[in-house]
Amino acid sequence: MKLHVMRCGIIRVSDSVVFGGGVNLHNTAKQLLTPERARVALPVFCYLIEHPRGLLLVDTGWPRAVSPAGVYDEQAVSRLLPRYLAAFYRPFVPAGETAREQLEAMGIRPEDLACLILTHLDPDHVAGLRDLAGAKRIVLPEDEYFWACRTVYKARQPWPLWKDAPIERLFYRGSPLGPNRWAIDLFGDESVQLVNVPGHTDGQAAVIVRHGSRFVLLAADAAFTPRNWREDLLPGFGFDEAFQRKSLGWLAEMERDPGCAGIFCSHDADMTPQVVEF
Ligand SMILES: [Zn+2]
Repeated sequence: MKLHVMRCGIIRVSDSVVFGGGVNLHNTAKQLLTPERARVALPVFCYLIEHPRGLLLVDTGWPRAVSPAGVYDEQAVSRLLPRYLAAFYRPFVPAGETAREQLEAMGIRPEDLACLILTHLDPDHVAGLRDLAGAKRIVLPEDEYFWACRTVYKARQPWPLWKDAPIERLFYRGSPLGPNRWAIDLFGDESVQLVNVPGHTDGQAAVIVRHGSRFVLLAADAAFTPRNWREDLLPGFGFDEAFQRKSLGWLAEMERDPGCAGIFCSHDADMTPQVVEF
């Protein structure tokens, strides 16, 4: 099995996103008010998996519309996102780096994707949906969808980015996997499982892709770097610290599993695009 780790844009945020030490108003304010020069650039990773059932893409990254010339373009960003989210993410995508452009360079059209898996509905993970219409399936945990229409998520996950996409909502079920013991077995053969890792959002999924006794774990935003679980450093952006801790504890447990071929965080600044065979 082959995993392509693809960088599909950059966000520029306050360092409290990565190491804020918990979810509180101070961190939220800091994330919005941190000036340009004090921000850290974080990659936005998506993943292409060459699976026996077809090509799978996990998350979308940013579309070309957010960054028409490949650099930060405040006006283009604010056409896509409300002002407060534009100020939060300050995203751009260098030329050739959107998911669609990278797939095209590999000779892959959106219609060639057997399944596009969305880990959660934050803009940096779904804004590229507009570029990927045609994927045979687009799947999302029902629990993530349920909350996206309610409470604080309504402000955090703007509907125009994803509401009209033909998203198939799948229910988590009881499972030995994950901090909540809740997972979706995508093909019914345990080869691809969406495991609920709450904390960053309620319904967020990490994705486990298994080949024989080996697996890779795509952690989405349950952690921003392995340091979050290895050094017990809590991120500063999410909705629930207790759940964040539980999810980090589970990642630590999975990393100790001898079958683990790697845990990948969507915004790990120390990670580079790569191809992993396992
Ligand atoms: Zn993210």
